[in-house]
Amino acid sequence: MTQAETTPRTGKRVLLAKPRGYCAGVDRAVQTVEEALKLYGAPIYVRKQIVHNKHVVRTLEAKGAIFVEENEEVPEGATVIFSAHGVAPEVYEQARERSLRAIDATCPLVTKVHQEAKRFAAEDYDILLIGHEGHEEVIGTAGEAPAHIQLVDGPDGVDKVTVRDPNKVVWLSQTTLSVDETMETVARLKSRLPLLQSPPSDDICYATSNRQHVVKEIASECDVVIVVGSRNSSNSVRLVEVALDAGARAGHLVDFAHEIDDTWLVGATTVGLTSGASVPDELVQEVLAYLAARGFTDVDEVVTANERLTFSLPQELKRDMKAAAARG
Ligand code: SF4
Repeated sequence: MTQAETTPRTGKRVLLAKPRGYCAGVDRAVQTVEEALKLYGAPIYVRKQIVHNKHVVRTLEAKGAIFVEENEEVPEGATVIFSAHGVAPEVYEQARERSLRAIDATCPLVTKVHQEAKRFAAEDYDILLIGHEGHEEVIGTAGEAPAHIQLVDGPDGVDKVTVRDPNKVVWLSQTTLSVDETMETVARLKSRLPLLQSPPSDDICYATSNRQHVVKEIASECDVVIVVGSRNSSNSVRLVEVALDAGARAGHLVDFAHEIDDTWLVGATTVGLTSGASVPDELVQEVLAYLAARGFTDVDEVVTANERLTFSLPQELKRDMKAAAARG
């Protein structure tokens, strides 16, 4: 007899979203810290949280990573890794001044937005950067061309925008925004600035849009959608908002299964489950086990895309790994 045949059917089910969890940029950033620890030994300093996830940060701390806010906290000559969210050029400069061995784990899709910002600034455009004020990624991107970039924090930020020449304006965005809200912001910007140009390719990354797309597919069938992710993870917070906008009766963000409040499940027959791009799947499996213990034993995985993208490790790390391998 199969397990399905022995498990009593309760009529309670989980719709498990796929894609969910780790994206290529997060996977590369976490591997960068792990490989650097193996190669250079502990401690390895990491400027800011390598990715916005409590569990990942704690796990890397246990292996010898030390998370700091700024380069000044890193001893001269030590190794520092810059997080997946990217940094402004002055941060590389500070690292050089302190003779730090800097390894850049910025996601290549964030670097792409930095390159766009530099290019449009060099052509003297006004750049409207749609994003969340204070988010590390936005600080890093804006730092590429502070004189040309102004932040537009959602549709309500549109009225504050002023530009020098309405014929020479482009919008760019943070990679982890809500696709729908960003389009609303762009529509409002265009009603004020009809000649506003769009980025050469989407700035909201594939992982963010794929995770939002599948949540939209399942949301209307769900009494509650649980998103595994941390509160400072922009793409995770957006998933809860997207689920609610798409018809979920309730939505909650949790770092760990034990944070689930059983009252959320009262009267529920369908629970949606997904996770942000910085969340290892073991945390989702723990939530599945938690739900199974409460009668949600049927799990249907709803798949809307298969992701195969991977990024290679930062050049500076690969070079040192190769040299170490050659030394034997
Ligand atoms: S969410 Fe997107 S931009 Fe951010 S690390 Fe992942 S792939 Fe890169």
